[in-house]
Amino acid sequence: MKKIFIKTYGCQSNIADSEQLAGILSKKYKIVDSLEKADIIILNSCAVKLRTLNKQLDFIKNIPKNKKIFIGGCLPKIVNLRKTYPNISGFFDTNTILKVPELILEDYIIISNEKEHRINLPRVRKTKDLAIINICQGCEGNCGYCAAKLSRGELKSYKIEDILKEFKQALKEKCTKFYLTGQDTGCYGFDLKTNLPSLLKEILKIKGDYKIRIGMMNPNNILNFLDELIKIYKNEHIVKFLHIPIQSGSDKVLKEMNRFYKVKDFELIVKKFRKEIPEIKISTDIICGYPTETEQDFKKTLDLIEKVKPDVLNISKFSSMHNTRASKLKQLSSEIIKDRSVRLTKLFKSLKK
Ligand code: SF4
Repeated sequence: MKKIFIKTYGCQSNIADSEQLAGILSKKYKIVDSLEKADIIILNSCAVKLRTLNKQLDFIKNIPKNKKIFIGGCLPKIVNLRKTYPNISGFFDTNTILKVPELILEDYIIISNEKEHRINLPRVRKTKDLAIINICQGCEGNCGYCAAKLSRGELKSYKIEDILKEFKQALKEKCTKFYLTGQDTGCYGFDLKTNLPSLLKEILKIKGDYKIRIGMMNPNNILNFLDELIKIYKNEHIVKFLHIPIQSGSDKVLKEMNRFYKVKDFELIVKKFRKEIPEIKISTDIICGYPTETEQDFKKTLDLIEKVKPDVLNISKFSSMHNTRASKLKQLSSEIIKDRSVRLTKLFKSLKK
């Protein structure tokens, strides 16, 4: 039996995709945990940041020539890797994972814009007691810096009954921790005339010993059902962790990033959650050095973080990803970008003292 090693980069969605991929392939192949043991390498790639892109290119370069390599995930739709790495046997993307068994036999490229119906499939879990469930793929946003949009595309939510079935199956498999994930769980169900609170209420009817962590949500989407969501978050099964990426403290920059909310919306959400659930952990993201960000805009970001004091702050240095709208703008110098991320990191560390 040929041995396959799946290397995954990126978000929880990608990890869930790799678990499904391993589940599908384990019928005919042995899934192994290292490159050395494998005959075939599958790279499930991420396209969010240049730094991650470079790490993956190094990984590809270091694969011994006697091993076959296939690339999937978000990169194949964004970067033409075949030109640079002719030794790559084939490509797939986040919409053609079910076709990989075929691809491995034929060596070709299968990229599609048609979303697959990929739920309730066999899994090889990365962590035995952790069930990562993609409740939706894609999103309703179109953020200027985002390459994930180019690969994951428009929103496709899975039906509540399909997610409940996946949840119950994972419970049967002794999972006690659940990540409900997607590119933006806040827009879950908008394409099915339902929403995240409706899904959560159905899940919470399931009896059992489990904890649910809810993935990243954009502020504009949860404003629609904020009070309802806070009520649900009080449930003992819900992990008191809220990840809402703000990205900038300047409304001008948020508009230029094509983010559909204002700073005051973010502050309102944080204030209401903290008032109703004092133990809530607030996590947010900031991009330092977006091309149109002035020193004045950046000062507003520093002021916002000083005021809100998030528990977790994911700081990214802006990196221009291929084919994004922001990549066509005049870029700030790497010195300015670095300086801003250093100042924000320093501020955040000082707030944690
Ligand atoms: S909401 Fe914006 S940042 Fe998030 S996946 Fe969609 S386009 Fe990308």
